[in-house]
Amino acid sequence: MLTLNSHPTGNHFLQIPGPSPVPDRLLRAMSLPTIDHRGPEFARLGRQVIEGMQRIFKTRQPVVIYPASGTGAWEAALCNTLSPGDKVLMYETGHFASLWHRMATRLGLDAERVATPRADPLLPQAGHWRHGVDAEHIEARLRADTRGDIRAVCVVHNETSTGVTSDIRAVRDAIDAAGHPALLIVDTISGLACADYRHDEWGVDVTVSGSQKGLMLPPGISFNALSEKALHASRAARLPRAYWDWEEIVAMNTTGYWPSTPNTNLLYALAEAIEMLDAEGLERVFARHQRWAAGVRAAVNAWGLPIQCADPRRHSPVLTGVITPPGVDADELRRVIHARFDLSLGTGLGQLKGRMFRMGHLGNSNDLTLIAMVAGVEMGLQSQGVALSGSGVEAAMRFFGDTP
Ligand SMILES: *Cc1c(COP(=O)(O)O)cnc(C)c1O
Repeated sequence: MLTLNSHPTGNHFLQIPGPSPVPDRLLRAMSLPTIDHRGPEFARLGRQVIEGMQRIFKTRQPVVIYPASGTGAWEAALCNTLSPGDKVLMYETGHFASLWHRMATRLGLDAERVATPRADPLLPQAGHWRHGVDAEHIEARLRADTRGDIRAVCVVHNETSTGVTSDIRAVRDAIDAAGHPALLIVDTISGLACADYRHDEWGVDVTVSGSQKGLMLPPGISFNALSEKALHASRAARLPRAYWDWEEIVAMNTTGYWPSTPNTNLLYALAEAIEMLDAEGLERVFARHQRWAAGVRAAVNAWGLPIQCADPRRHSPVLTGVITPPGVDADELRRVIHARFDLSLGTGLGQLKGRMFRMGHLGNSNDLTLIAMVAGVEMGLQSQGVALSGSGVEAAMRFFGDTP
């Protein structure tokens, strides 16, 4: 038997912001026998998960499901809608936005990286990584594009490297105010099913998401939610694509099947996750994550440590990034906490490496597992000699105890 845990007993605390802890119900669903993906039962499952994902994206338009991680769905969104050399505007909110920009460049797009500079003494090089998308910046850039060269605006809804959630409706409004025809392409790989998201109402052309964050599944499937305008653009788009091509998949999906073999057992888990989310109701799911995030922030504030997100309106309901004091290596802290307490925290990504760690509050969690996470971090900080202004555990207990 594979040995995964150096600690002999108890559950591992997987508190990274994805993959998130998977509910046992989903793991059990995945253990059912794999069935014929061309057989009669499969079509029911196929239609059930596609319709369920339409409810979660809040769309009546096609949702494409790929047996791939989120990165694959990023590529699918770009290569289905754009042509070589097309200009795309990509707002840099953090590491994931930067990786998506690098992919766009590698695909042969003329990808322009934009961000509003933010003076920040704590992170002089990365002040803008403490804020969300500045829609006014996008509007000004689109107004200056009088020839209409920009074909798409790409933004990350929930920037998982920083814990900042951006206002997608404001980006839609900015594109409309500029009267610009660019497509709006949004990554909500970690935001979906944690933070409010409305594909149709917000006029998003392609939404990209993945299985292993808010949807609580293991890694391995990802999504593109489409619009009429995106489908129209795909007919003229000339970036090479074969496996990712929407047309054949969308056509076959109407019968509940896929052109190639879908990830059958992960689709069982997806059907189960959709059932859980439907039963609770998305509004309650969003409120639950907001409450969890507020409880974890109460702990960080009690410690007196800075939160990566500097804009209180943009705190992520999914994760909280914590900046360590100068001289305290966040990765050494994470290493000690993992070795001592069997608790995994998210590492600082890109230019945040060693400067911050990320606490996930998503997936199969509850008040007590989050208090345990806070306790593990607090003991780790103390073991590293970090001077704390108060007890985060007490603050979290007070918050969760007093806030039903
Ligand atoms: C996790 C994540 C990705 C990358 O997805 P993979 O599944 O690792 O390929 C991209 N963007 C965001 C915002 C993410 O959280």
